[in-house]
Parts: sequence; C-alpha cells; structure tokens
Amino acid sequence: MEQREKINTKEILRASQMGMWCVEMEEGKPPRFYADEVMDELLGIDRDITPEERFVFHRSRIHPEDMQLFQEYSDKLTEVRTEIVYRYIHPVSGEMFVRCGGARDTSVTEYVAVTGIHQDISETVRIEKEKEAERRLAELNDSLRKEKLRQDIYYKELLDIENCGVLAYTMPGHKVIHMNAEALRMYGIESVEAAQRELGPLLRQVYYPDSDVLNQLKKLRNEDDMVDYECIIGKGKANECHALAKSKVVHIPTGERAVLTTFVDVSDMVMLKNALRRAEEGSRAKSSFLFAMSHDLRTPMNAIIGYAELMEAHWGEKEAATNYLQKLKGASQFLLALIGNVLEIARIESGKETLNEAPWNLMKLEETLDILLDREISRKQLTVNRNVNIRHANVYCDALKIREIIMNLLSNAVKYTAEGGKIVLDIEEKPSVQDDFMTLQIRVSDNGIGISKEYIPHIFDAFTRERSSSESGIIGTGLGLHIVKSFVDLMNGDISVESESGKGTCFTVEISCRKVPEEELQQQMEEQPENVSLAGRRLLLAEDNGLNAEIAMTILQDAEAEVELAADGKIAVDMLKDAPVGYYDTVLMDIQMPNMNGYQATGVIRKLPDERAKIPIIAITANAFEEDRQAALAAGMDDYVAKPVEISELFRTIMKNL
Ligand code: ATP
Ligand code: MG
Repeated sequence: MEQREKINTKEILRASQMGMWCVEMEEGKPPRFYADEVMDELLGIDRDITPEERFVFHRSRIHPEDMQLFQEYSDKLTEVRTEIVYRYIHPVSGEMFVRCGGARDTSVTEYVAVTGIHQDISETVRIEKEKEAERRLAELNDSLRKEKLRQDIYYKELLDIENCGVLAYTMPGHKVIHMNAEALRMYGIESVEAAQRELGPLLRQVYYPDSDVLNQLKKLRNEDDMVDYECIIGKGKANECHALAKSKVVHIPTGERAVLTTFVDVSDMVMLKNALRRAEEGSRAKSSFLFAMSHDLRTPMNAIIGYAELMEAHWGEKEAATNYLQKLKGASQFLLALIGNVLEIARIESGKETLNEAPWNLMKLEETLDILLDREISRKQLTVNRNVNIRHANVYCDALKIREIIMNLLSNAVKYTAEGGKIVLDIEEKPSVQDDFMTLQIRVSDNGIGISKEYIPHIFDAFTRERSSSESGIIGTGLGLHIVKSFVDLMNGDISVESESGKGTCFTVEISCRKVPEEELQQQMEEQPENVSLAGRRLLLAEDNGLNAEIAMTILQDAEAEVELAADGKIAVDMLKDAPVGYYDTVLMDIQMPNMNGYQATGVIRKLPDERAKIPIIAITANAFEEDRQAALAAGMDDYVAKPVEISELFRTIMKNL
C-alpha cells in the first residue's frame, strides 16, 4: 500500500516525457482529442482549446511526409493495438520525433474511442541516427579503402606493365615519383635512387630526331599538355634504345605537377627497318657494282688483248715491244687484283675469313711496299715520306693482311692524289696497356682530292665509290676500304679517317700485336736457312696446265734445280714409284688436276711402303685461302704456296722443307 503511494504516476509520466491521450469519433460529429497536461506540453498545444480544436491542431502539425503513415496508423488503431513513430512540428522547438502507441477503448460502446500514450523520443532518434551515420561512414571508409587498394594495385600493375617504360617526375623540382623496371632498363640504370641522383644527365642523354620536340617538351606546363614523339635513349652507346614516347603533365595527390612519360621500346623494329634498308641499299650497290665491274673487268682485258696484238705487230722493235709488255703486265696485275678483291669480299661476306697469325718482323713492311708502288709514285712524281718508329718489331701477326691494309691505303693515297702531291706513311709503335703486347699504328696521309662529308659515312661500304671510273678516270673496284675495314675488325683493331674535300685525307689504323718472346726469337734465328740455291736438287713438278708448268720450270731451272714434269697426279705417283728412293728431293703438287688430284696423289704417296712416303710435298694452288692451306696440310702435304707464285716465297718454302 505504502509503496503504491510512493509512486506518483503523474510525475513518472512527465519525467519520461510521456503524455496520455484519448480520441473520440462519433457519427455526424467532429472528432474529439483529449490530452493530459504533459501531452499538451509535449506537443505545444494550448491547454484552453476545445477537444475538437485540439484534433485539428494536432493534425495540422504532423510532418507532411509522415501524414499518410499516420492516417494508416489511426485507421488501424480502431481494430488493434498499434504503435508508430512520426515527425511532429512543435510550434516552438520545431521538428521532433514522437512515439505513439494506442488501442481501442472497448469500455466505450456508444462511439469509437481510442486511447494511448505519446512520447517524445527525439533524443533517442538523434542518438540512433548518429550511430547509423557513424556506421554508414565506417562502411563507406572501408569500401573506399578497399577501392583505393584495388586502384593502387591496378595502377601499379598498369605502371609496371612489362613492355612499357614509365617515368614520372615532379615539375619543378625534378623529383622522381615513379620509374618502372622497363624504364630503368631502357635508360640503362640500376635503381630509382640512381635515377634520382642522375636525372639531369639521364634526360640529357636522350636524343630527339625531330629537333622541335625538345622545345615542345620544355613548354610543358599545364595539366593535360602533351607531346608525342620519337627518341633515342643513350644514342651511340651499346645499349642504344629507340622509343616511341608520350609526355604529359598531370597533377599528383600531393598537389604538385608532374611530367609523366611512357615509352615503348621499338629498337627491334628500327633494327629490322635499318637491316631492310641496308639490304636494299646493298642489293642496289651490288647491281651497280656489277655494271661497274663489267666495265672495270673489260678495261684491263681490253688492254691486255690490245697490247698483246700491238706486241705481235711490233715484234721486231725491241723498245716498243718492251713498252707494250710493261703495259700488258700492269693491266694483268690490275685484273689479278680485281679478281683477288672480289674473292676476298666473297670470303668476308660468307664469314670464312680467319686470322693467320705467325711471328713476323714488322721492319719487313717497308721492303714489300717499296716494290709494289714505286712505279706509280714516280710516274706521278709524288713525294712519299716514310717514318718507321718501332721498338718491338718481332710480333705475332697476320703479315699478309697487315700488308694488304697498308697497300690499300697507300694505293688510295697514290690514286687520289694529283701529280706532284705528297704522301706520308707513318708506322709507329704506341704504348700498350698489356706488357706483352705492342700497338702498331699505321697512318697514311695525303694532300689529294679528299673525301666529301656526305661520302665519309659510306667509305667502308663494299662496292661503293665516291666517283665511278668513267667519271673520274681513276680505276677502282670500291672494295679496297671494305676489305681494309674487315681485316682491321678481324684483328680487333681500329680504323678512322679524317678528310676534307680538296685538302687531303688521313687514315689511321691501330692494331694490337703480341710480342714474340726473346727465347722464341733466338730459336727462329737458328732455323733460318742461309743458302738459297737449288743447285743439285731434283724436283718433281705435278702440274696439268702447260703454261703454268712452263713458268714454274723456267723459274726453278734458273735457280739451278733439276725439274721433272708430271702432267697429272697419277703420273706423278707413278714417276715417284719408278724412281729409286731418294731420287727426288721434293714434290711440287698442283691441286686441281685430271685423273688424280693433288690431295689424292698425296694420299697415295704417303702410303708408299718405304722412305719415299716421307718426301716433302708442297702444294701449289690457285685456291689462295687459309682453309685451302689447311686442307692441303690435312691431306698430308708439308707446305703450301699460292698462285700466282711469288719466286722468293717459292724458294723459301722449298728450302724450308728440304
Ligand atoms: P679499289 O677496290 O680498287 O681499292 P677504290 O679505291 O675506289 O677501289 P676503296 O679503296 O674502297 O675503293 O675506296 C672507296 C672510295 O673512297 C674511293 O673510290 C674514293 O672515292 C674514296 N677514297 C679512298 N681513299 C681516298 C683518299 N686517300 N683520298 C680521296 N678519296 C679516297
Ligand atoms: Mg682503293
């Protein structure tokens, strides 16, 4: 009992913001809305108004958006207990959230009465709403984070795409923001840190074939400014890289501006294009070479035939005949050189050319050159100065090729210098980084017609000449320098040219040669044959060509040798078999012969049962290349002499093998 008195219902309702109400609806009368004091206070309703007026007033303050909901609610109230939360516009404090619960009062029967409570739950709703907003925000943040992560991965993959270089740096400030692996590779740099350190030089090493591009790049300022261009990164270096690029100004998250460049490496394509162009040029050059060649071949051939006829006609007149003979020889030599060059080129192009290094004395260079060019030099009254300055003359080298290099350069200097001109040949030793090597420097300079700037890049191309023979009256095949360059390359050497039209030309070659050690030198000296006479020697010459045989026999007989001729390999073998052991001292063996060739004949001889199997056999062949020499040695021959036979070389070889 006492407890119930303690509970003051009215105060409790006020404290919990809960008002009580009752609505009566009677046919033919306006609805009546009764409310207790708390309810009126809650909704801001004047206490003095009538229940009818209260009903109208309350309805008028319901939030329009909740009106329909409220109507449905009040309809339902007549049947079943129902609750609703709706918005109400308080005349003083504005929008509030109201919880309303009620049910029909079944004790009243004359008309419909519903009764219930109203509670201000604005605070609860506010807290709920805040919580909901927070939850939403957290959800949003989470999805944003996930989205950002996805984007980051996507962009990173996009930026690190394998075949596309990406470089981004701030502007101004030049801070590298991104440089992917492909860009590092294209710039030939190890890490982004290294790129940062060297960004300036890095950007400067890019070459733009279109010179305007650099200006356009310098003008990049505003967002979305863009340049599409071609560039060569590290031009001239081994890792030179051709790229198609696009540079664009972008804003980065820090608010700074950056230049974003993407590159695609098109080096392979460029290489293919160049190769194609070269192949096309090459085939063009070859056909023009064929034209020139047929002309160049015909010139000495005509001369040979012409002078031969003239000689025949003037047989009796010694002086005239000698003159024609000289000219005939000159033309033949040219023809031989031409054929030699063409063969050499064919070998170089097929990749067969090899180095044949042997100990040699560089001082001999001078001797050989003297003989070869003297005539032309005195005819043109050229001054030739030679300076030889070599400390270590004994070296391992391919003497033939070195001589050919000098010969070609000198012959050019002679050919392309007008009468009375000056040529300087310097053969010098330069210091070498390696102790057991020396650097041979060969310089050929002239004050001749010189070479134009435009032609210099093509100077070493095969089959090309600045002026054709018919234009300049100077005969040449356009192969000399190509051969020279190929030889120098083969020796891992260097060749360079300086020239100016009308002023002159200077070619410089540098080759590194291994020195012959002192002990080896001593040994060689002891092995040198002293006596070069063939007196008392009997040679068996196997040669099917009558003319060649006659020449060889004459040369050998002049040296007091006794020579017996075999017309092919078979006959040579028979003659050797029929003769007593020791009858012949040496066999000189041509390679290409009918019935039995030189290789086969050698094979048979080497299988003879007695001492004759060991007789020295020297190959004499027109196949003048290293692998022919190898083939001859492999077939069991002892040595090798190339045709046309150089007399001293032949004697030297015979003496060495006796
Ligand atoms: P060959 O095959 O008979 O040597 P070539 O002398 O014409 O014929 P290269 O030696 O390859 O051929 O030279 C190519 C071209 O370079 C020559 O045709 C000439 O135009 C130019 N040239 C070479 N050397 C000189 C030089 N010393 N002075 C001026 N021009 C030169
Ligand atoms: Mg030449």
